[in-house]
Amino acid sequence: MRSEEPSTSSRGFGTLDVLVTDDDEHMRELIADTVLSYGHRCRVAVDGLHALRLLAERPADLVVSDWDMPNMDGSELCRRIRSAGDDAPYTYFILLTAFGDRAHLLAGMAAGADDYQRKPVNVHELEARLVSAARVVELHRRLETRTAKLRVDSTRNFAASRTDALTGVGNRMHLDEEIATLLGRAKRYGATCSLALCDIDLFKAYNDCFGHVKGDLALRSVAESMRANLRAADALFRYGGEEFVVLLFEQPLAEAERAMDRMRLQIARLSIRSADGSPVTMSIGVAELDVAEDRTAESWIARADLALYEAKARGRNRVISSAPPRM
Ligand code: GH3
Ligand code: MG
Ligand code: MG
Repeated sequence: MRSEEPSTSSRGFGTLDVLVTDDDEHMRELIADTVLSYGHRCRVAVDGLHALRLLAERPADLVVSDWDMPNMDGSELCRRIRSAGDDAPYTYFILLTAFGDRAHLLAGMAAGADDYQRKPVNVHELEARLVSAARVVELHRRLETRTAKLRVDSTRNFAASRTDALTGVGNRMHLDEEIATLLGRAKRYGATCSLALCDIDLFKAYNDCFGHVKGDLALRSVAESMRANLRAADALFRYGGEEFVVLLFEQPLAEAERAMDRMRLQIARLSIRSADGSPVTMSIGVAELDVAEDRTAESWIARADLALYEAKARGRNRVISSAPPRM
């Protein structure tokens, strides 16, 4: 039995990782010798089951397989290789057959074979088939590389389109999607969730005094501190301007209010100072989702906004909870 022998193709086409499968030792040797003589790597298997075991260890670019073998014939081997799924690297398949009739050839091609070679094997014909196999394998590999790159790009673009560029937290689009998913789930199964609308106090004055660039830095610090003070299950979004939204999953109103008050204190403790030297603070309105009332995101956010308005009216730097809508 021949063992694999890495080598470089001397004929100007790509080196293939080949698996030759035949129960006839003489035929196996002849084909393996031919494959190796053209500079390809070659492994050998005695039947379809043996071939599958070797392919599980390492996929092959090309399988040259006999049709008629014990345990598992060539068409079944081909079917198994094709059923590996779209993510598996493509394996070019050449079926060898001593049968002269069209029916066997057609059955082999229907099982997913790319090409066939009649027995007894003419080595020059086999060489031509190896050239065409190398070309197709090369095309598949290029396509696979391109697809993998597109997948990475698409994942990156997806994340970027949902992230606020300045603060790195979720953006408004991300928030809308998150709430839509939550409302859909809540309608079917019920859900407990509170929403906090957080607005930096007197931020226009901060910008007017220190300029927009320092204002941006302050916004970043505030977002960072908020993120650091959230539970892993909660989610932070920039709602717009100097306003943020926190979704506190599984948290009823009273718990959410306590959590947001801790966050408010953390913000006031950051060393961001207003023009008069006092700490920059934040006002927060909290509303718990009411599955019966809140058919849309807007009605839920509007209740948090009313509470926020009240927090501002009562002197800022505080958390106010919205009254439950059915009370
Ligand atoms: P209030 O306490 O009532 O919320 O007062 P405020 O000054 O914070 O509210 P107002 O809505 O009048 O002003 C918000 C300010 O936030 C105005 C704007 O310059 C600033 N701002 C919004 N987005 C950004 C941003 O991306 N960068 C910077 N630097 N400032 C921003
Ligand atoms: Mg505002
Ligand atoms: Mg503000």
